[in-house]
Amino acid sequence: MQVKTQEKMTEKIKKLIELQNIDSKLSAIEKSKGNLPYIVNDLTDEINENNSEIAGLENLKSELENSLKESKSTIESSRIMLEKYKNQRNMVTNNKEYEALIKEIEFREELVVDEEQNIKTLTENIVKNSSILEVKTRSASEKVQLLNEKKNQLKEKLSETAEEQKILEEKRNNLVAKIDKHLYNLYERIYGSKGQVAVVPANEGHCGGCFTVLPSQKLSELKRADSIVQCDACSRILFYEIKDAN
Ligand SMILES: [Zn+2]
Repeated sequence: MQVKTQEKMTEKIKKLIELQNIDSKLSAIEKSKGNLPYIVNDLTDEINENNSEIAGLENLKSELENSLKESKSTIESSRIMLEKYKNQRNMVTNNKEYEALIKEIEFREELVVDEEQNIKTLTENIVKNSSILEVKTRSASEKVQLLNEKKNQLKEKLSETAEEQKILEEKRNNLVAKIDKHLYNLYERIYGSKGQVAVVPANEGHCGGCFTVLPSQKLSELKRADSIVQCDACSRILFYEIKDAN
């Protein structure tokens, strides 16, 4: 009975060690990609942001150009009217009509002055907007170029490791299916928080992870091998290393 429990425990530990080996290979692959995945993500975000800024600037550009057109046509029509009013002014016979015409003429002349000022401001804004648009567009196209370079580098890296990664992931899935959920969760928790080392040997009487000396009670628990034994100091799962018999 005792022997069977020990065998079971040894099997469980062996699976965890195997899982840890696979996980460290997978993280080595991940590391070999370096910053590329982050760079690609960041650049993609920056380009999207840039593009929406450019769209805004282009909207503004057409709004400004429309306003400019409107101002110009207001001036043009006002000038035609002014000419007409001035001709009429020479032909009016009574004061009332004369005063009304003068008012119209004054109104139109003021309008022309206002619209000329408007055109000046609009033209300045159009120039300003164009230069910002030009800078943004250039920077966007530089970023797109850089993104393509980085994407290609990442693609190259991925193709170097894709096959190995796929095999490891399949192995990992098969293995995880054979590990108790509770134990797997424990492993994951420790692996994630303890520098990607969750299962450590305890051969020399100390924890192989944090090197804390293990109390004799821990050592006898380990020898009994009927339960999962964790280091009190670092929580890592302990095992007696199975040495090759030479
Ligand atoms: Zn420890």
